[in-house]
Formats: sequence, structure tokens, C-alpha cells
Amino acid sequence: QIYTADEKRYEKMEYNRCGKSGIKLPVISLGFWHNFGVHNDFDNMRKMCFTAFDEGITHFDLADNYGPYPGSAEENFGRILAKDLKPYRDELIISTKAGYEMWDGPYGNWGSKKHLVAGLDQSLRRMGCDYVDIFYHHRMDKETPLEETMEALNGIVKSGKALYIGVSNYDKEYTEKAIHMLRELKCPFIINQRRYSIFDRTIEEDGVKEFAYENGIGVIVFSPLAQGLLTDKYLHGIPSDSRIAKDPRFLKADSLTKERLCQIGALNEIAKERGQSLAQMALAWTVKDSKICSALIGASSPEQIKENAAGIMNHTFTDEEIRKIDQISRG
Ligand code: NDP
Repeated sequence: QIYTADEKRYEKMEYNRCGKSGIKLPVISLGFWHNFGVHNDFDNMRKMCFTAFDEGITHFDLADNYGPYPGSAEENFGRILAKDLKPYRDELIISTKAGYEMWDGPYGNWGSKKHLVAGLDQSLRRMGCDYVDIFYHHRMDKETPLEETMEALNGIVKSGKALYIGVSNYDKEYTEKAIHMLRELKCPFIINQRRYSIFDRTIEEDGVKEFAYENGIGVIVFSPLAQGLLTDKYLHGIPSDSRIAKDPRFLKADSLTKERLCQIGALNEIAKERGQSLAQMALAWTVKDSKICSALIGASSPEQIKENAAGIMNHTFTDEEIRKIDQISRG
């Protein structure tokens, strides 16, 4: 069947300016880390993309290594783009990243110019794209001189293969250095992608949230649901269709400690009082102030995307709710 996007899609979503750049990102974006690999159902992937876009989610986040196998998420997305989403290419912000192991030998990983330029070329081939909207260096590389990595990113923008540059998992010190270097090069560095959720406050503690905001760099946060822990799904055991049961590479059953389950149960009660599901409240919490540009979710079904997109719109919290959530999450 031919996909036609919902005409009302832009009435449903909120868009936030990404730092001090020219682009806005939807308050909720869709990531391809899980559920888009070679073992997943292609029809479900297509439906997730359609549902997301119909909800006004214009930003799809990929990386070269997403799969398994590494590269397969980009290949699957490329098929969907070619088959269904091509007419909407100019309405989409497509991002990808390089910086994790992709091929054998000393150039298949990290942050050298050699790795980044070849890595992006491979990603573009897999996705069938001429360019990506945002290209990220995926993680800090303490061995490669940062100047080289930044110079490579700048060259990539100048070559037209990416419109904007981002960094991911960069701490405050590296973010600050990147800002200085890329400003000097007049390179559009617009975003840092970091983990953030009710259960992981590192970007508040290491100062990146505040620092990026003050310096005009957008922050997009990943794993806002702590990979699914911040939902009601694990309250009564481990469902067979959950990430822990199906794909426990990064989220394992031992993360469900008695203490964690107690916290999830207590947070679920606050969500109910707010008229939200726990997933909806947890997402809304990440974007409750204007310092976070977008919450980057994963999903295993179109229904989850619909629920999350609807729920994130109520992101106003009372001081009392914030205090209670802090108290529960800090134990
Ligand atoms: P989340 O914390 O949003 O977890 C997503 C998972 O939660 C889903 O796959 C699903 O798991 C479950 N879920 C989602 N919505 C609901 C719901 N309404 N009810 C119940 N369960 C729900 O994010 P991810 O950890 O998946 O990360 C999101 C994205 O962030 C990635 O795809 C990637 O783009 C990016 N990322 C970037 C990293 C980086 O280093 N830059 C690292 C990690 C992620 P289930 O299968 O159990 O249904």
C-alpha cells in the first residue's frame, strides 16, 4: 500500500528550537537503536515510522552501528525511505553517528578523520541518502586530537554530506572545547546527545545541561524511559515481548532490583494522579524546562509511539510533584 501522511500531523506536535540554530526539533523524536535490526519485523518498522511521522515526529535518529548486525538499522531505514518516505525527505531531520566499532583494523572505530569520513560515506550508502541533516561524533575519543575530529566534522559539512554537526556522550569539558574549535571553523555545531531520565541525572550533575543551554547548543536526550524501566510494564514481572526478555544486550533482568521496582511503583502512582501513564510522565519530565530540546525515544510498536507522543504534551509539573519524583528517584 502507498503511505500518505496524516494531514493534521503538524497540529499535534510541539517543536523546539535546537540551541541557537535555525532548526526546530519535535519535542519527541524516534530512535532506531533497537527494533530496526535484521531480526525485527520489517512491516512493524514501517508502521512505526508512519505512526511517528503522522504524530508530527519529524526527527529520526540513527547510527552506523545500530542493528544487529551493525548497519542493518540504516539499511532498513533506507528501504523505508526509498519505498515510502522519499516524498517527505524535506520534512525530515535524519541523523546518524560514527565513533563505535564498524570495521576491522585501526580505522574502523573512534574519532579519526579517516574513520568519520569513511563511516559517513558508508551510512549514506546504506540509507540511500545524499546527505544527513545531523552528523554526530558518537563518543569522546581521548586518543585522537580533538582538533582532528572537529576538523573532520567541519570538512563533512563543507562537503555537503551533513547540514549540521552534533556530538554525543561528550562531557562538559569536551563540549566546551568542541564549541570553541567549531566556532572558529564557522561550523554549525548545534547539538549534544546525552542520556537523561528520572533515573539518570548525570547531565545535571556534570553541568552539561546548563552549559549547553547557556552556550546555544541544543540537548537531545536518549533513553528517557531508562530503556523501558520507566513504564508500568515490569511492575508484575518480565513480559515476553519486553526488551529484557527479547534483547537484553543493554538492559538486563538484574536491573530490576527490589528497590528499583519500589521506585517504579511509586512513580506510577504519581503518574496516575496526573492522568498520565508512567511512560508519558517520564517523558514529559525530561522536557519540563526549556533546556532540553527533544526526548529521543525507542519503541517496539506503533501503539507505544502514539501513547508517548500524546502524553508528552502535558509537561507542566507542580513543585510538589517534582519534589516527590526527586525523593523517590534518589531513594
Ligand atoms: P527509551 O528509554 O525510550 O526506551 C525505549 C523502550 O521502552 C522501547 O523500545 C520499549 O521497549 C519501551 N517503551 C517505549 N514506550 C513505551 C510505552 N509507552 N509503554 C511501555 N514501554 C514502552 O529509549 P532507548 O533506550 O531505546 O533509546 C532511544 C534512542 O536514543 C535510541 O533509539 C537511539 O536513537 C538513542 N540512543 C543514543 C545513544 C548514544 O550513545 N548516543 C545510546 C542509546 C540510545 P520494549 O521492547 O520493552 O517494548
